[in-house]
Amino acid sequence: MPFTANRQFKQTPRMLVSASGMYYRTDDGRPILDGTAGLWCVNAGHCRPEIVKAIQAQAAEMDYAPAFQMGHPGAFDFASQLTALLPAGLDHVFFTNSGSESVDTALKVALAYHRARGEGQRTRFIGRERGYHGVGFGGISVGGIVTNRKAFGTMLPGVDHLPHTHGRSQQAFSRGQPEWGAHLADELERIVALHDASTIAAVIVEPVACSTGVLVPPKGYLERLRVLCDKHGLLLIFDEVITGFGRLGTPFATDYFGVTPDVITAAKGLTNATVPMGAVFFQKKIYDAFMTGAEHMIELFHGYTYSGHPLAAAAGLATLKVYKDEGLLTRAADLNDYWADAVHSLKDARHVVDIRNLGLIGAIELDPLPGQPTKRAFTTFLKCFEKGVLIRTTGDIIALSPPLIVEKAQIDQIVETIRDALAGVE
Ligand code: PLP
Repeated sequence: MPFTANRQFKQTPRMLVSASGMYYRTDDGRPILDGTAGLWCVNAGHCRPEIVKAIQAQAAEMDYAPAFQMGHPGAFDFASQLTALLPAGLDHVFFTNSGSESVDTALKVALAYHRARGEGQRTRFIGRERGYHGVGFGGISVGGIVTNRKAFGTMLPGVDHLPHTHGRSQQAFSRGQPEWGAHLADELERIVALHDASTIAAVIVEPVACSTGVLVPPKGYLERLRVLCDKHGLLLIFDEVITGFGRLGTPFATDYFGVTPDVITAAKGLTNATVPMGAVFFQKKIYDAFMTGAEHMIELFHGYTYSGHPLAAAAGLATLKVYKDEGLLTRAADLNDYWADAVHSLKDARHVVDIRNLGLIGAIELDPLPGQPTKRAFTTFLKCFEKGVLIRTTGDIIALSPPLIVEKAQIDQIVETIRDALAGVE
């Protein structure tokens, strides 16, 4: 099983059999309030009839169309509607099937872009400690997760990493963006001085590093990265697989922070997680750099059998309509204060050493059980599940990201369930 304690699970399986709105239902008939939008992906809530119908209709109309040298209207329509949502300039889309594939695509295009411009020696990528960019060899190399290093090594040559932006002694219990830490972006100058800008293709970061425990960027940090990338001719890639589609109260994190990258990777909320799909958004200058040579030649030697799959495109179009009709891409902004108050009310709960929040994301960091890292959080997760609430844990951090349709009473239920669970955890 993926990222699962297999033996523990098989002794006491947790089986979900149906879902609707904010709730899952287990095989023994218990409702489970979804505090994590599945895996940060079911932004509009579960089994939305409009999306279900669109997938059913598309499956009956045309199941599949070849993605190479052929097209279908759904993919183009979806691409146009998506780019209309993005800041001006990010006007080309490449469809993939997951966040990991979106990251691989972004990295490969960055290399090929520089080569197309006659700077093929720009082959190095700069990621960040505690970054998560999926599970492909490119993603784990630019990512900054020690367990990946131990298990798989670093497969991309020449990758270097910025320091992560979390400093608990300076930032503990910050509401929203921390004041301290913008200077950590200047580490990029040191890395550029070490390797020389002419060897570096791109910098990739999550605007908010979610999977390793919700590390909220310090005020001014992303702005500074943008300035330094421009100064040295590096592409800036925002991995918005989680932050895309309303998680911060704006369509994308690029809107929230007012910093426009050259490339954005997306997945998850793209189709409300109903059909697997990812997307990569590119600035026009990147697309244009490839559009040279004989017109019968393939310009970008890359693609997936299922790029722009008809079912995924139909699901995505229906999802966008739900997001728009219900104002879900900005709803997290309306709930921001209530959410921040609720998660920060856990400050005095047992074992809590830090709390972080931004948009409809929250993290509650626990003091690890001495000698048994991750156990305290995992036990809390099991207890919350028994009590009817799905949370997620990473290390000894509880990460929360409910669907964007969450009601205030449900936020209270999530928080009070965690408080109760913590009270009973060793
Ligand atoms: N990038 C980021 C920022 C993610 O959070 C994730 C998944 O959580 C991925 C990439 C990988 O996405 P997937 O699991 O769809 O491959």
